[in-house]
Amino acid sequence: MDIIHLLPDSVANQIAAGEVIQRPASCLKELVENSLDAGASRIQVIVRDAGRTLLQVIDDGTGMSEMDARLAFERHATSKIREAQDLFTLRTMGFRGEALASICAVAQVEMTTRRAEDETGTLLEIHGSDVIRQEPCICPVGTNIKVSNLFFNVPVRRKFLKTDQTELRNLLTEFYHIVLVYPKVNFTFVHNDEIVLELPAGTEKQRIEAVFGNPKRNSYTSAFVDISTETDLVGIRGFVVKPENATRKAEQYFFVNGRYMRHPYFLKAVQTAYSGTLTNDYQPSFFIYFTIAPEAIDVNIHPTKTEIKFADEQTVFQILMASVREALGKFTLAPQIDFDTQGRIDIPLSTGQPVRPPQMRIDPTYNPFHTRQNHAQPQTVAHWESLYEGVSGPREPEVSLTRPAVETAPDAPDTEHGPLWQYADRYILMPVKDGLMLINQHRAHAAVLTAQFMEQLAHTQGAMQQMLFPEVLVLTPDDMVLIQTLLTDLRTIGFDLEQLSPDSYSVQGIPAQVAHMSAVPLLQDILMQVREQGADTPAAWRSQIARALAENAAIPSGKHLTETEMRDLVTRLMQLPEYRRSIDGKTIVSLLPDEEINKRF
Ligand code: ADP
Ligand code: MG
Repeated sequence: MDIIHLLPDSVANQIAAGEVIQRPASCLKELVENSLDAGASRIQVIVRDAGRTLLQVIDDGTGMSEMDARLAFERHATSKIREAQDLFTLRTMGFRGEALASICAVAQVEMTTRRAEDETGTLLEIHGSDVIRQEPCICPVGTNIKVSNLFFNVPVRRKFLKTDQTELRNLLTEFYHIVLVYPKVNFTFVHNDEIVLELPAGTEKQRIEAVFGNPKRNSYTSAFVDISTETDLVGIRGFVVKPENATRKAEQYFFVNGRYMRHPYFLKAVQTAYSGTLTNDYQPSFFIYFTIAPEAIDVNIHPTKTEIKFADEQTVFQILMASVREALGKFTLAPQIDFDTQGRIDIPLSTGQPVRPPQMRIDPTYNPFHTRQNHAQPQTVAHWESLYEGVSGPREPEVSLTRPAVETAPDAPDTEHGPLWQYADRYILMPVKDGLMLINQHRAHAAVLTAQFMEQLAHTQGAMQQMLFPEVLVLTPDDMVLIQTLLTDLRTIGFDLEQLSPDSYSVQGIPAQVAHMSAVPLLQDILMQVREQGADTPAAWRSQIARALAENAAIPSGKHLTETEMRDLVTRLMQLPEYRRSIDGKTIVSLLPDEEINKRF
């Protein structure tokens, strides 16, 4: 008996859907891209429960004929390419013809659509690839697709979805990628009946302002300078942040031919152009738009991947780096590129200078909170001490390290007796059984405080200090979503936060251990840590909250410690189950073994 048979389309579609539609955000991307391909000038996105129950996209594009409306949901049905050759000259976002087929395989879809030349439109209802209804209807020109109960027939996928807050953040991230390249299209994003973003048509700069700016603050885009370079190979336009306005949370966007892309190699080019101008862990924000002949890039890769390959990446790297440097007013440092010779560029790649890795200046005395408030004046080692006035005061270890004693790690050395020295105001030296223990004082304190904050988050209420002057924390829509996720834990640890408006919170209280710090940058740092670590379980984000607070509150390198302070710190460090490494894997303690020392003589 033959045993091989063809899978029914509905099953094949469901399997393929796993590739294209992984979560509400990928569904949103496909729908909005279709609207853009259909030439829409106004696109409304309506979401309920982070896309779980409803994801609706309404456009005023070309619409579809009755026949096309039906065909659109078939696999490999597309109006965008006819033959393989067309792939190399792609000018649309979509081309695979599998998005709608995939979506209707895993959701309940209702669509109305009408072309301008037709009097009536078409209504189509499909549940899990089964056509439930198809009939003429009265509707405006354009297309209105409602995707309900995503993954209703794939419980595993549904279970795989993250919290609403995380999925909503994913939706917004995807939405940003699109709206930032289509400033001439009017977009609205509504979640649970609230308007999250309303973006009128305008220029790129106005679009960036509308997404990231805040009417109550200084203009967001005034922190940026324009870049613009036109060569035979590539056009590069956009905006890069002025070094003095860089922050730790950077918005970094590359687009090529109207498509968002991730490009770690080009990111290096931008970082290299900034090298030496940014403090410590500050990152440059940028919005950079490439225009290049479609045949010089390869977008024909996985539908959900955002990496794009360029034919001549090294040359583009050099042009990009030079262009950012020029914008930052340091063009003289760039490798020699002659832009004048008949508009051609000639870069001796083989003999050219090797590309330098990004170099960030490390300033051991740097304090993010002081830098933010007066980032006009570069911080120098000479006046570092004044930076910590009032900071080191309330931070005597005896006062702040109130961690209840736990059992000492079995191999931890005795810290009660014996000499202790401080070296270079950064390390504590302690003789132990088989050598000399070197302890990084900042990391040690950060580890102790992390453990303390974690404990508070798990069991108790942290001590809160009322602030004299409440501060206002203004957030982007995605951070608003994120902070709601963290709200309970932030309150537990001692922040007093009240929502003030759809995009801001007022901060009235701060954890007592960090009471001498500015609440707003501290909270921004927490949000950034949580976001960057992709922490989306309570355990994961609690440890990021604890870590961010501890990192900020810990005694800095460069602070002189008394012997009592050292002994107290070392004793508490040795009580941690893992005192050698921090939770992010950094070395806290290093042993210089006896034989190493003896060998020297
Ligand atoms: P692709 O976009 O790769 O062609 P899709 O499955 O996303 O594949 O869409 C299939 C076809 O349906 C498109 O090629 C287009 O002709 C039509 N279509 C989809 N969405 C719209 C829309 N919003 N407006 C007009 N036509 C659409
Ligand atoms: Mg498509």
